[in-house]
Amino acid sequence: MTVAFSETEERQELRKQVAKLAGKYGREWFTQKARAGEKTTELWLEIGRCGYLGINIPEQYGGGGGGIGDIAAVCEELAAQGCPLLLMVVSPAICGTIITRYGTEEQKQRWLPGICDGTGTMAFAITEPDAGTNTHNITTTARRDGDEWVLNGRKIYISGVDEADNVLVVARTEDARTGKLKPCLFVVPTDAEGFEARSIPMEIVSPELQFQVFIDDVRLPADALVGDEDGGLVQLFAGLNPERIMAASFSTGLARFALDKAAAYAKERVVFKDAIGSHQAVAHPLAQSHIEIEMARLMTQKAAALYDAGDDMGAGEAANMAKYAAAEAACDAADRAVQTHGGNGITQEYGMAGLLVATRAGRIAPVSREMILNFVAMHSLGLPKSY
Ligand SMILES: Cc1cc2nc3c(=O)[nH]c(=O)nc-3n(C[C@H](O)[C@H](O)[C@H](O)COP(=O)(O)OP(=O)(O)OC[C@H]3O[C@@H](n4cnc5c(N)ncnc54)[C@H](O)[C@@H]3O)c2cc1C
Repeated sequence: MTVAFSETEERQELRKQVAKLAGKYGREWFTQKARAGEKTTELWLEIGRCGYLGINIPEQYGGGGGGIGDIAAVCEELAAQGCPLLLMVVSPAICGTIITRYGTEEQKQRWLPGICDGTGTMAFAITEPDAGTNTHNITTTARRDGDEWVLNGRKIYISGVDEADNVLVVARTEDARTGKLKPCLFVVPTDAEGFEARSIPMEIVSPELQFQVFIDDVRLPADALVGDEDGGLVQLFAGLNPERIMAASFSTGLARFALDKAAAYAKERVVFKDAIGSHQAVAHPLAQSHIEIEMARLMTQKAAALYDAGDDMGAGEAANMAKYAAAEAACDAADRAVQTHGGNGITQEYGMAGLLVATRAGRIAPVSREMILNFVAMHSLGLPKSY
């Protein structure tokens, strides 16, 4: 029976199936791949074959016809098994959603099937070295030249460029250069002439890497532009709310993974007469994490439900709050999991310390905790803008 405040039976079954699939791979496999500089392509293609990767994309383009709530569930369950896939956030959820909503029929047919089956992964590039959080200041510029576009700019911290066939690049048109940002979205093939990506050494234990991207006079056909040239921020936000919901799910999944490990260890490890979990100093922080994670999951599910019901404004506020709560819950859960493991908490064998950086990234990306607090202060509380 489905009661209010719980997901449908179908969604719960989806979670079970994804957990089972990811469990076949597991954390050890994932970290080994990361440390060997290898990729998680087998898992990526398997979730594609099973229909989970494009579950949010309409069926006529190879997807499952579901919503953001479904793809968020997939993302969370993968992470909860220790196999967090950041490109889930980017390829199906951001790029897939924007193309589904604003692409032409021909563009949908060209790009969505590959996003769904995992053979045509698409990265997403908005962040720039100088603009940073202030995306209104991006300077990547598109100039018209006859029937073509010519793109120039720099991007930073772009995930998975080496695994992607294309990158959805946020630029501005030359005419709009001095005015308010009118973002335009271009699909740029990663093998285009003038496109170069250099990996940034990060401290995250993950097979998925981040890149600095150099775009120098990259020539694109007219139909590389997705959506209306004057479509504005609305087109971009169609992808950014799903991004926040996915980021929240990525965090709650990692948090669950950390907490499961910590609870299991606390039940087994004995140093005085009983297992360490019998000491409230060990048990209470874990109980606290359980509560924080469940609250963040509930808010994430609310955000997804609002988004899938077409309430973009309501989803915006909820997605920001979910992403904030999930990142905080995950950072604390990882820290408590390390502490519960004692010295083992910082060995590679137990793999807990690596979670500290992975979860910490959730406080910074895709939108920092400070910018969420700014959003809530302004939009939810009506306080003045501070920047
Ligand atoms: C692992 C990882 C993966 C990423 N993947 C992608 C990707 O695939 N595509 C992509 O486009 N980007 C990606 N990013 C970039 C990410 O979105 C940015 O790092 C993030 O938006 C913050 O920008 P910044 O790093 O330039 O920080 P800055 O903008 O320099 O901010 C630094 C600090 O100042 C604070 N700050 C700035 N302005 C204000 C203000 N007005 N009020 C209060 N505090 C403020 C920020 O909150 C932050 O704490 C990724 C980042 C990471 C870490």
